[in-house]
Amino acid sequence: MNAEIIAIGTELLMGELVDTNSAFLATELGKLGIRVGWMSKVGDDLDRLAETIERSWSRSDITITSGGLGPTSDDLTRESIAVVMGETMEVQPDLLEHLESIFAGRGAPMPATNIKQATLIPSAETVPNTMGTAPGWWVEREGRVIIAMPGPPREVQQMWSGEVAARLRAMVPDVTIVTRTLKTFGISEGGLDEMLSPLFGPENPSLGIYAKPDGIHLRAIATSPTEQEARALIEPVEAHIRNIVGDSIWGVDDETPESQVVSLLMERGLTLASMESLTAGLLAGRLADATSGDRVLKGSLVVLDSGQLEDQGVDGEALRMHGPISAEAAEAMASAARDRFGADVGVGVTGVSDGATGSGNPPGTAYMGFAVGDRTFSSSGTYPTHPSRVRARAVTQVLLELARVLRASALQ
Ligand code: AMP
Ligand code: MG
Repeated sequence: MNAEIIAIGTELLMGELVDTNSAFLATELGKLGIRVGWMSKVGDDLDRLAETIERSWSRSDITITSGGLGPTSDDLTRESIAVVMGETMEVQPDLLEHLESIFAGRGAPMPATNIKQATLIPSAETVPNTMGTAPGWWVEREGRVIIAMPGPPREVQQMWSGEVAARLRAMVPDVTIVTRTLKTFGISEGGLDEMLSPLFGPENPSLGIYAKPDGIHLRAIATSPTEQEARALIEPVEAHIRNIVGDSIWGVDDETPESQVVSLLMERGLTLASMESLTAGLLAGRLADATSGDRVLKGSLVVLDSGQLEDQGVDGEALRMHGPISAEAAEAMASAARDRFGADVGVGVTGVSDGATGSGNPPGTAYMGFAVGDRTFSSSGTYPTHPSRVRARAVTQVLLELARVLRASALQ
C-alpha cells in the first residue's frame, strides 16, 4: 500500500507556517508499514486543491490531507474532495445537532458558516474530532481511501491515535518494520556511498545514508511479517557493511558519543576530568547532559587565556617548547586536569576556532589530549567552518577518540 500526504493552507506556501503535520503523518504511516510516495503542499484554492487531490486519488491507495476543514470560506478541503468524487455535499441532521450542542455548551450561537462542518458526501463518513468542531472525513471507494484531517497539530495527533491509525492498521497486512542505524565517523558521505554502492539498490532492506553532526549514519530498514524475519534481512547487510567500513563505525541506533563515553567509564569504574580552551566548557556540558554523566565527570576547567595555563598546573616546559596550541599542550592539559581533580582519566582540548590567533595553525584546528593512567595520547582534527561549529565538531571528535582510547586501554 502506498500513501500520499497533502498539507493544505496558503500560510504553508507563504513560508509563515511550517508543515509539521506531514512529518508526523509520514512517521506514523511508516510505523504501519505504509510507504509514503508523495507529499505536497497546496494553498486554499479550489481548482488547485481539486487537481492535487485528483492526482493523488489516481495514483495512491491512501490520500491523507490536513487543514482546510475550518468554517471559513477559504477552508475548501471538503468542497475539493466532493469535486474529485463527483458527489454533492449534504448537511447531516445528526452532525448539525452535535455541532449546535458544542456551541450551546460554549454559550455562543453557531455562526452560519460552521454549517459546512456538518456536511458529508455519500462516499464519506465522519472521523470524530474530540478536540475541535471539525470532524474529519473518511472517504472510501473502489478500495481507495481519502482521509481529511483538520489543521491544528493537536487535533491531527489526537484523531490519528484515537481513530485513524486503528482503521488503517486493519486495512494493511501485518508488517513489522525494523530499522538499524550504524554510525560512522571519519569517512565522507561520498566515500561511504562509493564503498557501499551495491547495497543501496535493494528495497528490502533499503539502505539510506545521512550526514549528521556526529558523522555519517547508515540506516537499514527492513519490512517483514515478523520482527525475527525483518532482523534476519538486516543481519547480512550489517555484516557486509562492518566488513567494509569496520573501525569507522563507532555506534548503533540511539547511541551518542557522550552516552558511549559515560557507559565505558561506568563499566570500568573510572572517573574523568577535563581542561578546555578551544571548546570553552562544551565538552563538560555535553557529558553532564548525558545520562549518568555527572557520576563520571569529576570536574572541568575552562582556561581561555593561554598565559594562565601554567598557573592551572599545565607543564610549562611543554607549553614553551610547543606552544599552547599543540598536541603536546593538549596532553599536558589532560594530565593537569586528571591530577587537579584526582580523576582516572584526563582530557585536554586546545585549538583555534578562527584564523585570528596567529599561532601558525590553520583555522578550525583542534588538538585533543588524553591522560589514562600514566600514559598520554593525542589526536587532532581540522574543521574549516564557523567557530561555533568548530567547537561542536571538536567535542564530538574528542568524545569519539576518548571512547576509542577507553576501549583500547587495559586500565580497569
Ligand atoms: P486550517 O484548518 O487549514 O485553517 O488550519 C488551522 C490551523 O492549523 C492553522 O492556522 C495552523 O495553525 C494549523 N495547521 C494547519 N496545517 C498545518 C500543518 N500542515 N502543519 C502544522 N500546523 C498546521
Ligand atoms: Mg486554513
